[in-house]
Amino acid sequence: MKTKETLILEADQSGFAAAGRIIRRGGLVVFPTETVYGLGANALDAGACAGIFAAKGRPQDNPLIVHTADVFALARLAGDVPPRAAALIQAFMPGPLTLILPKKPDIPDTVTAGLPTVGLRVPSDPAAAAFLRHAEVPVAAPSANLSGRPSPTSFAMARAAMEGRVDAIIRAEDSRVGLESTIVRVTESALEILRPGGISEEQLRLAAGGCEIRGSFSENSGGPPPAPGMKYAHYKPKAETLLFRTAAQRRACEVYCAGAGKKLGVILLADSLNAERAAADTKNVITRQMLSAQEYARRLYAEFFVFDRLGCDVILAQYPPVEGIGRAIANRLLKAADGRFAEGL
Ligand code: AMP
Ligand code: MG
Repeated sequence: MKTKETLILEADQSGFAAAGRIIRRGGLVVFPTETVYGLGANALDAGACAGIFAAKGRPQDNPLIVHTADVFALARLAGDVPPRAAALIQAFMPGPLTLILPKKPDIPDTVTAGLPTVGLRVPSDPAAAAFLRHAEVPVAAPSANLSGRPSPTSFAMARAAMEGRVDAIIRAEDSRVGLESTIVRVTESALEILRPGGISEEQLRLAAGGCEIRGSFSENSGGPPPAPGMKYAHYKPKAETLLFRTAAQRRACEVYCAGAGKKLGVILLADSLNAERAAADTKNVITRQMLSAQEYARRLYAEFFVFDRLGCDVILAQYPPVEGIGRAIANRLLKAADGRFAEGL
């Protein structure tokens, strides 16, 4: 339901100061980060945080990540920082890493969905840091999209999703990473990756000093999900989304769409699989070519947004090599497509 008058604030001193005042009086502010745009409220104010769930249509049992301007403020929110977690803080914060740590009692249950732990992150984006400094309180923030939809990675996307639902939106640069943070839970014996993201498993491995790393990459192991959010639909564009790994799958989808008169948006990697392809767009086929996995991560949600705006019926996206940032891309694509590859169409 859209009812609020939404201020558009510039990413400058007066914009950050106004955003800080809105947060401190219990309002909602959409702000940029290096991963995706966030929808923030004072993390110590249960009422303000309830507003986040209402604005997004987010299920109450899906906890929020709490953002701070620096690692000192982060440490004040954690009941305990085990040495293994301290090493990760040292290596990757500020940056696209969220650590799940035991929480201090002053973090309301609304934020953590009643869990004894809290997800904590220090963004590296300068505008995010400036906003968080002006807020003067920790800021709980999920991605600034309606629940289930792709996360916004630009001001235009954030505005399209949240205008009328929040008190202010900060107009800033596109997100540099483009996919959400890596979520890591530190246990007695291992690091557990609850969500692949901006920090790769390979980077974690280098910093972890031989500690075992468990990935929850498939997220289909049965039983209660380790991160409550995993059980919900995520990252879905409006268009039907399909994946491909082979040239034959790509062709099958193109033939299917041409036959059914469906408008198709294609996301390709510039690799040998697509070397023979002349990317000649027609009225019904629009092709985007990604030169690297980094570019794919950065542009994925924006391409979903544009394809939806252009009225594509089907989005066909190439499944990337599952390594480095490719793990996070693959994870988001599988969710966007409900695991469907372009076969038997
Ligand atoms: P989003 O804010 O949309 O990026 O989603 C945040 C993700 O972090 C969700 O999947 C949550 O389930 C997960 N998360 C947040 N807090 C915790 C926690 N205390 N324990 C496990 N997962 C968490
Ligand atoms: Mg999200």
